[in-house]
Amino acid sequence: MTELCEVCKQELMECRGPEKAIGIVIAYMPGIEEYEGKIAFSSANAVILRNEMARHGVDLFTFRRTYIWRHLPPEKGRTKIDKGNFQQEFDAQMRYLSLELINRSVVLLLGTDVTEIFLDKSATEISGIPMKSTELSAPLVMGTLDPSAIEGNSWGEFALGIEKFCIAYNHYYHTQLRRS
Ligand SMILES: [Zn+2]
Repeated sequence: MTELCEVCKQELMECRGPEKAIGIVIAYMPGIEEYEGKIAFSSANAVILRNEMARHGVDLFTFRRTYIWRHLPPEKGRTKIDKGNFQQEFDAQMRYLSLELINRSVVLLLGTDVTEIFLDKSATEISGIPMKSTELSAPLVMGTLDPSAIEGNSWGEFALGIEKFCIAYNHYYHTQLRRS
């Protein structure tokens, strides 16, 4: 059954990947084509992410994949009413996301819009560094650039961020999960 946003009644995009995945990847919002095609993480950027992770032996498809915004975000606007609507919508989206975060041990945040929400820092500042977040209880939280935001110069930063994430993930996987 399709889930509807309780605020605006638009359809929520389904999360992709195993429901019980230990890891989750969170981007800010679907691309227009992903939204219209109703398939999350189906763009060329998702392929870039998957390929980059695969180079380090990590399969994106074993991760839950979702967005902060599971429908296109409303205009933020300048009036009090617009701001209020945006905040109400945002709060609802964060509640949907909090349900997805239950029992995840590994969280990968993509892009500054997402890292600022959880870590109060830009993706560039924290790319590839294991972080502590008061809002995320997962033992391994990292962020890097969103592939959709990569321009010439930032490719290396993205690639390095993903490499470091994969190293940390593989280490976590082999030291923590195998034991339990
Ligand atoms: Zn809504």
